[in-house]
Parts: sequence; C-alpha cells; structure tokens
Amino acid sequence: MNNYEIADHFALLSKLMDIHGENSFKSKSYSIAAYNIEKLPREIAEMDDAELFASKGIGDSTGKKIREIQGTGKLDVLEKILAATPPGVLEMLQIKGLGPKKIAVIWKEMAIETLGELEYACNENRLAAVKGFGAKTQDSVLQSITYYRQNQGYHLWAEVENTAKELVAQLSKAFPQNKFILTGAIRRQSEVVEFVEIVSDLSRDEVVKQFEPLPDTVIEEEPNNRLTVRIPNQPAIKFYLCDAAAIWHTVFMTTGSDEFLAYFISKYKVPEIPESEEAIFREHSLSYIPPALRETEGIVDRAAVHTMSELITPNDIKGIIHSHSTWSDGMDTIEKMAKAARDQGLEYLVISDHSQAAYYANGLSPERIAAQHQEIDALNEKLAPFKIFKSIEADILGDGSLDYSSSVLNTFDLVIASVHSNLKMTLEKAMDRITAAIHNPYTTILGHPTGRLLLSREGYPVDHKKIIDMCAAYDVVIEINAHPKRLDIDWRWIEYAMEKGVLLSIDPDAHSIAGFRDVYYGVMTAQKGGLTPGHNLSSYTLQEFETFLSGYRTKKEAK
Ligand SMILES: [Zn+2]
Ligand SMILES: [Zn+2]
Repeated sequence: MNNYEIADHFALLSKLMDIHGENSFKSKSYSIAAYNIEKLPREIAEMDDAELFASKGIGDSTGKKIREIQGTGKLDVLEKILAATPPGVLEMLQIKGLGPKKIAVIWKEMAIETLGELEYACNENRLAAVKGFGAKTQDSVLQSITYYRQNQGYHLWAEVENTAKELVAQLSKAFPQNKFILTGAIRRQSEVVEFVEIVSDLSRDEVVKQFEPLPDTVIEEEPNNRLTVRIPNQPAIKFYLCDAAAIWHTVFMTTGSDEFLAYFISKYKVPEIPESEEAIFREHSLSYIPPALRETEGIVDRAAVHTMSELITPNDIKGIIHSHSTWSDGMDTIEKMAKAARDQGLEYLVISDHSQAAYYANGLSPERIAAQHQEIDALNEKLAPFKIFKSIEADILGDGSLDYSSSVLNTFDLVIASVHSNLKMTLEKAMDRITAAIHNPYTTILGHPTGRLLLSREGYPVDHKKIIDMCAAYDVVIEINAHPKRLDIDWRWIEYAMEKGVLLSIDPDAHSIAGFRDVYYGVMTAQKGGLTPGHNLSSYTLQEFETFLSGYRTKKEAK
C-alpha cells in the first residue's frame, strides 16, 4: 500500500466518526493524521518504526495504526464503524457538497439511507427545505449524484497502480511457475481505471481457491476463461486465463483499447503463439507501440511508416515548475524545497505561490512578493548553481485579467495563470477569461486549463482546440498538471499541441517536497499523448530554461 492509500483509511475513519456524531476531537486527530501521512517525504513501506514514529505529525498511536493497516490490510476501528454504517450512507461521501455533517442530517433526521432515496428527495424539493441546505445545495447534490453514477466503480490510476503491482508480486510469489502480467487500462496508464486486469496461465480452480475464502467476495465467471473477482472496498480484479503458450497473444489482445484492437485486427493477423509481444509487431514490420499509446487507430498506421519517437520518461524532468511554499498554502519553506529538489538531482525550482485573490490560500500581496523575492535572491547566492525562479500562480479573475498590476507582474521570471474562482461558468464565459489570460503579455504558462478533478469534478467547459491555437499564436506554454487527480490538460490534446508547436510543461503543482513525486504521474499520462522531452518545458536544463525565459521576454515585448 502506498501512502495515499494508507491516508485514505484515516480520512474515511474521521468522516465516519463525524457522521456518527462521535468524539469530534478524536475524529479531527484522524483527519490530521491522514493529512500528515500524505505529506510524508518517503513511502511508509520503506521506513522502519523509528523513522516512521518520529515523522512529523505521526507519533506512536498513529504509527501503530499504520503498521496495523500494512500488516492486515485493515484498520480495526474503521472496520467496526464501517459495519455500523449503511452502504448508501457511505456512498454519500462521494457526493460533492455533502460533508459528514450534512450526511448525518440526511441519515439521522430525514431517515434517508441510499442515494436513490436522496435523489428522489431532491426531486421532491425536500432537501432544499432543510435548514442549512437550500436550493443551491440541492441542485448541486442532484448533479453530483448523476456524475457519481457515471463514474461508479472507477479509480484513479495512482490509487490502483501499487495495489495492482503488489497483487501481481504476491501471486508470483505464491505460484512461481506461473506468469502474472498486468494488462488493460492499468498497463495503458489510463488516468482512471475500472479493473485491475491480469493475464495468467494459472488454472481457474487455483484462482477461485485464492479468492473465495475472502469475506464478502464475489467471483463472476465469464466466457473465454475470464473471471472477475470483487472484494469489498477494493478495485475489482479481472483475470484473463490462458495456456502458457498463449500468454503474449492474450496480453496483446487485452492491452489495447477497443478502438486500437479492432483496427489492428482488421489490418494484421495476431499470431496465436507469439514468443513475445514485440514479435507480434516484428512479424508485420511495424514499430513496437508502447502500451500507453495503444489507444487510437492512428497510432497503428504511424507504426507502419516510421519509428515511434522517444517518449518522455521521469528521468527527463530537470526542474520543478509550479510549486507552493509556506508563503502561501504550501507545507515547506522555499529553502527546504530547493535543497530537496537539488538533492533529487534537479537543476531548478520555480516557486509559484498563490496570488492575492486567493485569500483562502494566503495569497501574496505586492509587499509580500517583494519580501519573498529578497529571500529567493539570498537563497540563490547560497545554493548556486542550483536556481530558484520567481514566479506566481496568478488567478485569472472574473474578467480575465491577472491578479496584479503590470509593474508587479514584471518582477517575476515567469507567470503561471490559473482559474481558481467561479468555476461554474458557461463555455463562453470560460473562454473569455482564458482568452484574455493567454493574450496577457505576462502569461508564460496556462495552469490546469480545465480545473477538472478526476472522478469528482468535471471542470469548466473549454474549447481545447481554440486554446491550443491561441497558445501557439501567443507563445503560451500549456501545463500538464501532474497531480493524479488533475492530469490537466488531458493527454488526448497533447498530440495536437505538439503539432501546433506549443510547448507543454509537466508540473507537479507541489504543495510540499513530497508533492514533487507527482511528476511521475504527469509523465505517465504525457506518455499516452506521445509527449517527447523536447516538447516539455520542465525537461529543459537550467541553461535551456534561462535561455527560454530571456528569449520569451524579448519575443513578448516585440508583440
Ligand atoms: Zn492552481
Ligand atoms: Zn498551484
């Protein structure tokens, strides 16, 4: 289990205690524990007790619970409270706008225990009438229920990747003679996945024997030797079972998207007993198509005419662009972040705290910006040749203007422009704001272009093609926000952006040193879009980055 998964146990426990109206001091301490676990600088699995228990905000009691989760896969107190919660009430936690307090009212006072009942109550306007709710909340609850239904059973890739790898490792250990290979959406690095899909030559009976004893587990048999294993509170596992000789055939046939496979099969024969996956491509004189790219018809045709370009890898990232320090809502000081980046072999750090409109995030006034710049200047003298760049994540305000006067904007090395407020808007309004920001001569990077949060918020509507075209015309870099919940801009637009000569930038939007590691998720999603290091700003070396910034200024001034 990775840190995010462990933190989820504590976060859920805290929310359930609030729903049940239990000791609020205790529930708060669990939510703080969840927060601290997410901010740990290293994976818990790599820490010994001494290090873990001494980590910031962990301590003995939380430390012991963490070890319990690692040892048993569960947390006893959580299991108990889960057993006392109707499943429908638990589901309500997935509905945006419903916190534990509101859920408690819905459950205890309105006696509603399922999402279906809640939906019905909204349609009858009953929720709007309850104190503390109102018509607006009711509307957003209804919308959110619809959205939740569409995404039910799906998980963030970042949340299942480790579970999936661990499962494969466990099975491989238990059955050393057999093969277990991840396939499907996980192997394609899809941002959200429904199943952990595994190809194996293990027998059907053995699979059943492994999972049948687990409590409340359902095993569904499907034709063609497929089994789906559903364990409560875990992503469903799909097994594709086959003879050992057919392993690579099955891996190939289950990895690609439907579109990719249908097209591939219409043009080429997939050998029944290939010696490897590469052999399938070789047989037809095709370039090997990495799993991440097996999404579209187009990639099949491309593999026939030329070799695949070199995809970006985590090692190609040379600097951290887009990060928040203790000056706004970050967890770590600039100095700590810079040293950590340097120690990880990175060459530079772009500090882009929140701008003044983001008062909830302690956004920076012009006076504080001046003070921050002094601190950065001093640190740069101390840490050279490592370099910290002065930036800001400037709010794109309602009218599309950036959050400071030109004279303040002029003091930054680069500006990231992002929408954070009034996210509920029409396509026209959203495009007006973004257009103005792209036209602003101070905008260097357009931050998280749609504001989406995968599986929880759709993001405001935008015309991606228009945004990319404008960024091409105005030399604005488009961010690939690497937070596993954002992965925004969507990878499906990377290819078009590269065609138009628009630079992209894989940015972790780090709010702590630990946040640097999100760059990995950005790289994984960017691979799906075929991103090459040359098209990625955060792959620039320090020297290239400085040249880019100075050239950028001159170009903009000429416009
Ligand atoms: Zn932001
Ligand atoms: Zn940010």
